Amino acid sequence: MSAQNNPLKENPAQNKNGRAGWFQTSSADCADVRKANGSPWRLVLLGAPGVGKGTQADLLDQRLHACHLSTGDLFRAASKQKECDQSPAMKAAMDHMRRGELVPDATVWEMVRERTDCIRCSSGFVLDGFPRTLGQAESLKQLMESEKIPLSAVVNYELPLAEIVARLSGRRTCEKCKAVYHVTGQPPKVEGVCDRCGGRLFQREDDRPESITVRMAAYERSTAPLIQFYKSLGLLVSITATGSPDEICARTISALETRTKIAV
Ligand code: AMP
Repeated sequence: MSAQNNPLKENPAQNKNGRAGWFQTSSADCADVRKANGSPWRLVLLGAPGVGKGTQADLLDQRLHACHLSTGDLFRAASKQKECDQSPAMKAAMDHMRRGELVPDATVWEMVRERTDCIRCSSGFVLDGFPRTLGQAESLKQLMESEKIPLSAVVNYELPLAEIVARLSGRRTCEKCKAVYHVTGQPPKVEGVCDRCGGRLFQREDDRPESITVRMAAYERSTAPLIQFYKSLGLLVSITATGSPDEICARTISALETRTKIAV
């Protein structure tokens, strides 16, 4: 996405509430500046690593005015802390992450639970990368039931495996604003430099070939069962993740609108 059509760039008040806001505080204060029209959207995004959930979450964040919350971003932020500031559980989590394995549920849940205010937020949310196991999905369901907050839908992005691997190995991320590029599919104007903020682009450690294989296996084993879990709750919306990010986003919004009309 270019800087020109990125509303977060022009509006610092919104920037505070985008995907960076979740790190800064356990009670992100964002309800007043991003009031959505109508009911807030509370979405979970599912799909294999590399399917484009992060990009879609950013686009949905802008178009539906619901905050993008990514547990992967939280772990990457934690990995930048000094080692002496990391708890033993967090150090262990970083080892799992580097190898491309899932972080244990207890550590993930601790991090998410600390941010319950973001889940309660009247602007809604787009959860990207959480839940990733049945245990996490059950914990989220219990929390939302106890808070009397319903999920709007669970969007499952689908893409053939070969295309996913190509996307992951060419992915580059901005170390500052987290914008995502692809070396061939969506290159920045200047190689290695973010169009949005001028930050340095890097390849995530877990996007290297040896980690990709481990991540795909973890997805098949732990996360794919969530598709059935949410289908049985009547929340699943499946979307084919081919085409440009804007096309996929438009497809997602149209499917969500159709679902809402049917539910009314
Ligand atoms: P992501 O950016 O969502 O692909 O997450 C990057 C890495 O963070 C994953 O490969 C896991 O090691 C860890 N991680 C993020 N979210 C979760 C989660 N919900 N459960 C377990 N591990 C997670």
